[in-house]
Amino acid sequence: MPKEQRRVLTQDEESELLGKHSACYVCLKTLEGYSPEEIQFDHIYNYADGHPQELSNFAPVHASKDPRKLNCHKAKGRKTPYEYREEYSGPHNSDNMLRYR
Ligand SMILES: [Zn+2]
Repeated sequence: MPKEQRRVLTQDEESELLGKHSACYVCLKTLEGYSPEEIQFDHIYNYADGHPQELSNFAPVHASKDPRKLNCHKAKGRKTPYEYREEYSGPHNSDNMLRYR
């Protein structure tokens, strides 16, 4: 079976996702103040594991090249946002986790 290409989102799809998610899927902090170039759309479940590349399987994450801003996309590496969040549960993040429960 040929390897499936990573899906590229259209502008419309990206704005739909931004309308649904107001926070980064990895750190759960707001995306406010981040320009479109500073946001990446990542798979919630890894498509390499056979998960569908539907729009519902994408979520925005911080990906700023500005060192003073967040780059969760780079920080999490190849993990899915969900896996990364499970590991990334230091005390500084607990307020955020509670709010989203
Ligand atoms: Zn983030």
